[in-house]
Amino acid sequence: MTCIFKFRFAGSLTGVSKMHCRDKRDNFKRKSKNMDTNLFQLDENSPLSRIKTYFDALQNSTDEYLFAMDVSTRQVMLSKNFLRDFNFPDILVDDFAALLTPFVWHEDREILESAMNELDSANAGVEIFGELRLMNRNGEYGWVSLRMGVGADEFGQPELAAGIISRMDIKVKADHITGLLNRNAFHLALMKELNNSGDAHGAVVFVGLDNFQLINETYGYEVSDNALRQIAQDITNILPVDIPLYKLDNDMFAFFVSDVYPEEIEIIFSSIQLCMREIRNIDDTIYCTASAGAVFYPDDADDVVTLMRYAEVALEFARQKGKDQIAFFDAAFYERWRYDLGMQNLMQNSIARGCEDFFLCYQPQVNAKTGELVGAEALLRWYDRDGSVVAPMQFIPLLEKSRMIIPVGHWIIENAIKTAKHWHSFMPKFEISVNISLYQLEEHMLYEFVKDCIERYDIDPTTIVFELTESHNIYDWDFVNKQFQAFHDLGIKISMDDFGMGYSNLSFLKNFRCNQIKIDRVFVEDILNSEYDRQLVKHIIMMCHAVGMEVCVEGIEDEPTYIYVRDVCGADIIQGFYFGYPETPDVFVKRFETINKA
Ligand code: C2E
Ligand code: MG
Ligand code: MG
Repeated sequence: MTCIFKFRFAGSLTGVSKMHCRDKRDNFKRKSKNMDTNLFQLDENSPLSRIKTYFDALQNSTDEYLFAMDVSTRQVMLSKNFLRDFNFPDILVDDFAALLTPFVWHEDREILESAMNELDSANAGVEIFGELRLMNRNGEYGWVSLRMGVGADEFGQPELAAGIISRMDIKVKADHITGLLNRNAFHLALMKELNNSGDAHGAVVFVGLDNFQLINETYGYEVSDNALRQIAQDITNILPVDIPLYKLDNDMFAFFVSDVYPEEIEIIFSSIQLCMREIRNIDDTIYCTASAGAVFYPDDADDVVTLMRYAEVALEFARQKGKDQIAFFDAAFYERWRYDLGMQNLMQNSIARGCEDFFLCYQPQVNAKTGELVGAEALLRWYDRDGSVVAPMQFIPLLEKSRMIIPVGHWIIENAIKTAKHWHSFMPKFEISVNISLYQLEEHMLYEFVKDCIERYDIDPTTIVFELTESHNIYDWDFVNKQFQAFHDLGIKISMDDFGMGYSNLSFLKNFRCNQIKIDRVFVEDILNSEYDRQLVKHIIMMCHAVGMEVCVEGIEDEPTYIYVRDVCGADIIQGFYFGYPETPDVFVKRFETINKA
């Protein structure tokens, strides 16, 4: 039985002829009404006829481009998507290579030619592979991989060659660990959602695992991959059946829900939090939590790229607020976040130019009893693009987060030591206090660097004070401890900044023996009105004296407070606006004389 195919005739291409096929269910009859038509016959004895059913089934189930060639007649059967995407004349062609060549990037034509030549001489079972750039009907080139093989007849002779051309850009649509659709697929689906209805309302939600890195490192990839699969499955089960879960990069999942209220998103997220508590195979001492960021369309944004960016920003917001929670997109946070990013970028450039826009100010520290200048604290400042001076609390956390504090920290230490050495010619015992965040103590090169500075500037190490300031993310306390001890042994004085705040507490003092503590301003600002604060400061100072520690009280702004802290509390050193603001070195030197003459 013969079956006749309709096809679109394109120009005067060769090899287009009538062919016959015995299969009645042939779906090569294409339905398009406005196509030019011609007739094709597929020889019923052709191996192509025998495989056509499989070929059809296969082409309907894949996005790849498929072709099969009858080795004896050189006739090639193509999958329909060749016609759709490459403007090919029809599904049955005689000279496939000649048809394909004009669509291949000129530099890659040799690859196609040699693949086809290889096919001519290939024995059954041989696999031929190549990668080249192919132009689609929109005139755009994209990378494809070409894979072909030859099958033998019953006598072992090459009979049928089959091949597959895969577009590399759309090839990877699923995440290889969880099997969920990936970022590309999410992008497409969301675009469809926004385009389909002119009035789409809903929420995009990104879910990020908070400490998955820890699970990776503690248990290895096999266990963490299993955990990821399980989390993917559990979240999928929580979501309504018509809402697919997607896996974006690393440990981030995403979904979108139409016509939803924030409260409903919160309920979904609570269920996700619950399922996170039950990850099997993970030791119950390690908890994996999730944070989420949600953004609403069209209220917050109405295009895919912005919605995805905002969802990521909202996720970052949730993490900054302490993780294990959901945050909704917040325009003010977004602005701040963008400002921080810009600032981080500017600081990076500044560091590359030798910390050009950074400078140090010095605030006097005086002997509480005599009011005599004994030293100064070096305080970092940074010039913003517009020339305004930025205070450290605005940029030091950024420097720490990005690890830029390491090069900047070196610059601070070197400059403070250089300045102090210069001032030693006026006042040999002048002490220079440098703020070092605990995070900096984790750096392995710090000790060598400091030692080298001491030698180069030939400075007495006992005139250097390291003020340890709070910092997050300390991983290696053992090393911090050793480094602390090493600086101690070098003769550097160690001061514990902001005593009573954050890390700076009694238990820290138990493990790290300091020479000095600095009492934060919050304890003294109300001291004249509060008996409680008075007792607190007085007894902290007594306790420190009892174990041989010196006490510096910060934030003294007026004379009555100074007198009280000096006479009743017994402070050793005073730092505060009452004795001087942080100033640049030249202004400070002038104050030098004033304070010492006073
Ligand atoms: P800190 O080390 O406790 O520094 C003292 C802060 O209190 C300084 O703020 C200083 O200007 C301010 N201050 C001093 N006396 C008074 C006073 O009488 N009244 C008031 N209201 N404030 C007073 P600054 O310079 O803004 O520094 C803030 C923090 O930034 C510092 O607190 C320190 O933790 C950090 N920091 C500053 N420079 C550096 C640095 O070079 N490296 C590191 N890692 N941190 C630094
Ligand atoms: Mg300090
Ligand atoms: Mg302080």
